[in-house]
Amino acid sequence: MIERRHITVQGRVQGVGFRPFVYRLAHELGLVGWVVNSPQGVAIEVEALTARLDTFMTRLQSELPPHAAIQYLDWQNTALMGEQGFQIHHSNHTGAKTAIVLPDLATCPECLKELFDLANRRYRYPFTNCTHCGPRFSIIQGLPYDRPNTTMRDFVLCDECRAEYENPLDRRFHAQPNACPKCGPQLALWDKNGAVLSLRDEALISTADAIRRGSIVAVKGLGGFHLMVDARNTEAVARLRARKHRDEKPLALMYPSLERIKAECEVSELEEHLLTASEAPIVLLRRTGAEIAANIAPGNPYLGVMLPYTPLHHLLMRELDFPVVATSGNLSGEPICTDEYEALERLGEIADFFLVHNRPIARHVDDSIVRVAAGRELVLRRARGYAPLPVKLPKSVPTLIATGAHLKNAAAVTAGEQVFISQHIGDMDTIETYNAYQRIINDFQQLYELHPSAIACDLHPDYRSTQYAEAAGLPIIRVQHHYAHVLSCMAENHLEAPVLGVSWDGTGYGTDGTIWGGEFLLVNEQSFDRAAHFGTFRLPGGDQAVKEPRRSALGLLYSIFGDDIPLDLPPVQSFSATELALLKAALRKGINAPLTSSAGRLFDAVAALIGLRQRVSFEGQAAMELEFAQDGIKTDKCYPFAVTDITSEVTASKRIIDLKLTVLAMIDDLRTGVSISEISAVFHNTLAEIIVTIARCSGEKQVVLTGGCFQNKTLLERTIDRLVAEGFHPYWHRTIPPNDGGIALGQIMAVLREQKICV
Ligand code: ZN
Ligand code: ZN
Ligand code: FE
Repeated sequence: MIERRHITVQGRVQGVGFRPFVYRLAHELGLVGWVVNSPQGVAIEVEALTARLDTFMTRLQSELPPHAAIQYLDWQNTALMGEQGFQIHHSNHTGAKTAIVLPDLATCPECLKELFDLANRRYRYPFTNCTHCGPRFSIIQGLPYDRPNTTMRDFVLCDECRAEYENPLDRRFHAQPNACPKCGPQLALWDKNGAVLSLRDEALISTADAIRRGSIVAVKGLGGFHLMVDARNTEAVARLRARKHRDEKPLALMYPSLERIKAECEVSELEEHLLTASEAPIVLLRRTGAEIAANIAPGNPYLGVMLPYTPLHHLLMRELDFPVVATSGNLSGEPICTDEYEALERLGEIADFFLVHNRPIARHVDDSIVRVAAGRELVLRRARGYAPLPVKLPKSVPTLIATGAHLKNAAAVTAGEQVFISQHIGDMDTIETYNAYQRIINDFQQLYELHPSAIACDLHPDYRSTQYAEAAGLPIIRVQHHYAHVLSCMAENHLEAPVLGVSWDGTGYGTDGTIWGGEFLLVNEQSFDRAAHFGTFRLPGGDQAVKEPRRSALGLLYSIFGDDIPLDLPPVQSFSATELALLKAALRKGINAPLTSSAGRLFDAVAALIGLRQRVSFEGQAAMELEFAQDGIKTDKCYPFAVTDITSEVTASKRIIDLKLTVLAMIDDLRTGVSISEISAVFHNTLAEIIVTIARCSGEKQVVLTGGCFQNKTLLERTIDRLVAEGFHPYWHRTIPPNDGGIALGQIMAVLREQKICV
């Protein structure tokens, strides 16, 4: 029997060569009909004998092109049309916009081959791409994904490019950014004033020369500018740090090849896979060599390393043949630059030269950062290659916006059954970042033509993200920070309540107005109970404690010793007698010394207590160094700790973790000459044991590990091992960051639970 089927497909089906794949399959099977891109995905109609159609449906799902993925497929019978042949129709623009916008994809092997093939017409052309690779998210201005809706719209295809673009059997069929040296974007090298020094290949060669000589070059890439400098040149790296106002925070590196990375770093199979994947993130790798300048990642056993991911980067790195620093083109605290004229202004004091091109960047997309922990990938910064891939919900939901938190912020929106999480935006301390943040939220609303019905934000009244939500003129839902962390991890793991959420980070506003951060939340179908938390201590000077771990240490010690803090301890010694007297008075009276249960500040306090670091130049530095300190130590020892049950008629089941015994034992070790490495290792073990103990008390088997503290590989792995050994089921993050970059997703989930839409 001949029948006709109308098939709708959703998922990663635009910009990945899906329609040509359908076209070829239909031709091979002798089907008639058509395929078309729609704002929701792809629609197909096919007509043939039933058996043929069944084969088509099977192969449609099993023989997908490399980057395609089907999330949803439905079909129904429709009236026979009996047309001739099979066609690819022009995109239709009707209906709600929910199509998945693809992230930017690293250069594919075929394009790379052409790039270095003397005989190819794209030899050394830095904007080569095809349906398997190239820019997507960074050039899209509207849906569906067609050339007129991208920043390539003003480049008119030459005859040869057009022939490829229109040939369904060509690798560049409907490759929207398709271009060649004749018709596409071109490079230019500018001096600080924007005067053109050279063009095209000559610009590239001069750039390489400048980097070789130790100059700092701002290079316009895929989702923004990099600042590049010879990674072996200590003096040049120091100059970059001074000009960028970036003291000690590690700088990312780009290497010419995998082989060169392997000569400098340990690379596991999974790490190699991540480095060479189409996401091409910065991967944190354990360093083994010494080729790199010491001031790239001072005191850090890891390097943040990536491979070239655009033809431009491939050409430049081939020319240089040594690793370069490739750090975001911005001033510390500001978003990455995307426009060459803006770059002249904002980066003029940093860069000596500007390698630019005339393909506009529609939105900034930073490099993503990934590490391998507990045997799988853990995304720490989610941007290029990952954003804006959605998290799928069990059903279609009302349109919502979530504004995220403050540090490492990202926003989220819902469209149909998808939660789209924005690319990493950054710390919202500067007006530049806040402006970028507003642009990104507007951008998502425009792209998907959304009309939100409500807006979710953090409980913290002073966050700019909260103030944005308050000004939006929509019904507002405030979500507790640590609850949002847990829900974000549950959503990523498709996990249902009840769970015990271990939500540990630096700071989050609690439901009682105090600073939380070492939380155990029992999450039920609609809401949560604060089942346990670290005993609180005061932070003398409030926010200043973030920059000075010694303040956290003093607060922790005060909570144990009161006015009789032992004077021989490193953080106490680091203050003058006058400072100490003032701080003690503040602690005694509780003036400008807020109480906190923060695990992040506890890490800081311990780092200061054992003399590792009294002040930091970036958030999390002390905690990182505490983790690095235990490197290579194998021990199962633990410090003692106490758990107090304060369950009463007013409070539901509630426990406080008392660290007095822990701190006393640590001080004892310190005084008897136990190494800092050993103390750190035992401290990490103790934290894992605390989690196991509270999990046992809670009676929940599903334990969710989330919050910035779980970027710590040692803590994460030890906790997972111990939980599994004790019969629990631990869950943690993978492609949604455990830090505040994942908060917006959690906020969306909180609203859906409150409205009883998805639990
Ligand atoms: Zn390609
Ligand atoms: Zn061309
Ligand atoms: Fe947080």
